[in-house]
Amino acid sequence: MITGRLGLAGQAVSPGAARGRAFHYRAAEFAAPTAEGGDPALERLRLERALEAARRELRELAGETEARLGAGDAGILEAQEQFLQDPALVESARARIAEGQAAAPAWWQGAQEAAEQVRAIGEEPWLSRADDLLDVGARVVRLLSGEPRRVVGDLSGRVVLARELLASDVLMLARAGAAGLAVSGGSPTSHAAILARSMGLPMVIGLGEALEQVAEGQPVALDGDGGRLDAQPRAAPSGRSRQPLAKPGRAITRDGRAISLWANIASAEGARRAVRAGAEGVGLLRTEFLYLGQGRLPGELEQAAAYAEIAQALGGRPLVIRTLDQSADKRGGATTRQEANPALGLRGIRASLAQPEAFLAQLRAILRAARPSGGDIRITFPLVSTMEQWRAARELVDVARAGLAAQGVDAPPVAVGCMVEVPGLALLADALAAEAELLSLGTNDLAQYLMAADRDDPMVAALGAGPQPALLRLVERVVAAARAAGKPLSICGELAADPALAKLWVGLGLGVLSMEPAAIPAVREAIALLDAREAIRAAEECLRCATVEQVRTALR
Ligand code: PEP
Ligand code: MG
Repeated sequence: MITGRLGLAGQAVSPGAARGRAFHYRAAEFAAPTAEGGDPALERLRLERALEAARRELRELAGETEARLGAGDAGILEAQEQFLQDPALVESARARIAEGQAAAPAWWQGAQEAAEQVRAIGEEPWLSRADDLLDVGARVVRLLSGEPRRVVGDLSGRVVLARELLASDVLMLARAGAAGLAVSGGSPTSHAAILARSMGLPMVIGLGEALEQVAEGQPVALDGDGGRLDAQPRAAPSGRSRQPLAKPGRAITRDGRAISLWANIASAEGARRAVRAGAEGVGLLRTEFLYLGQGRLPGELEQAAAYAEIAQALGGRPLVIRTLDQSADKRGGATTRQEANPALGLRGIRASLAQPEAFLAQLRAILRAARPSGGDIRITFPLVSTMEQWRAARELVDVARAGLAAQGVDAPPVAVGCMVEVPGLALLADALAAEAELLSLGTNDLAQYLMAADRDDPMVAALGAGPQPALLRLVERVVAAARAAGKPLSICGELAADPALAKLWVGLGLGVLSMEPAAIPAVREAIALLDAREAIRAAEECLRCATVEQVRTALR
């Protein structure tokens, strides 16, 4: 246990500063229930009762959260409540009870297995979903064991330190008055982080095992902007310094420029979250979700129904559907091909053009969905490197349309666009913008290929994760090309979700920023503080910078 000065670096996920005494919170370290089963009929009844009690608790909590934070955050708890009715989850617990297990381990094993399965997908919204499954799983186990609702004492002036935090932990800790949250693990897009942001509770994740070294009660300073925890800092008044986030609404700069905030989603649930977060459209539907849990692509009609459900959930807001971005390295894809460098291999549009039948089925499904849903559906293609690929893919949309017409299905017009996420294509943005009806900048891949840095390799990913001057120059070129051709352009990589970069994107002339629904409130808040003319001046300065550090300074 360290009682001297200790500085830990992590990732800031909810801004603000907090000082106070350390409080180690260990609720998430949950002992798996192991009790032997008694009479299966009785255990089954106990399970039903616990599920009902959990439902009541979650409804109550959702009501409180809605009153305090709004419907968007309450939706997290409503989604947890849905798990209590999930037929697969409930059935698996019942089957285990029938085999002789007690209700608590029967339920918990099912919840854990389900969480592991969705976590294996490795990206949002599934990672948050896995946390929610464990959260709701633990709630039912607690109710089965007859434990009272978990509460902690007054945490005013305390900075909470934990290995992991789940959504309900954050709500409870905030209610207890915690000044800030410091987590050794965690994810920036977890529901715990989203709620902390909504409540204006500073939070830093990824502080590592060394967090355990901080002694209980030791004075600490948490920096939710810089992503640090310092133990035994200079004495200062304890507490929190941050205004709560602004209420949802359109993103408007101080001088009245409206910026559209759209969402990146991967499911119908994501569409609902997007609407709750106030997204004006979906700039990126990652259709890889179609593979999930099945290892094969569903049939054309099944796909069409999935897209139509999403379009309906969006209630007429624009929906840009990206055709499959499968690859050997993206989990959830069906490709089994062995490749030495999957990121440079048969992925994205390359894989689709290599399997035209499956690609045509997806295009027909999208065109079919555009019909009954009446939604504003648009198409975009991933990882296009050349104009030849773009044209080949574009032509297949016409082939798909003709195929439907031959079956007597009349598809409405659908705008067809292209992702700009390969530097080679970005350099041809003028040629592309002349032909494509919409463009979207995928900065995750654009940066990966521009900086020669694998976005999934923690040793090098940081190279492509910041506002690299080279990337900005490429983005400027694409913005100019889209503007000259009068084509809509959005930006939908992770960088669009960084509130600290909102000034840059607005200044560079991007009118649509597309991001995880959870990121929308903070970006909206950042835009509300901007002056568009000042942003233009700052962006011009950024374009003259040679280092990321200089860019960040220019944005301050
Ligand atoms: C991107 O590359 O920026 C992008 C949005 O696509 P994905 O993250 O799905 O590769
Ligand atoms: Mg990409």
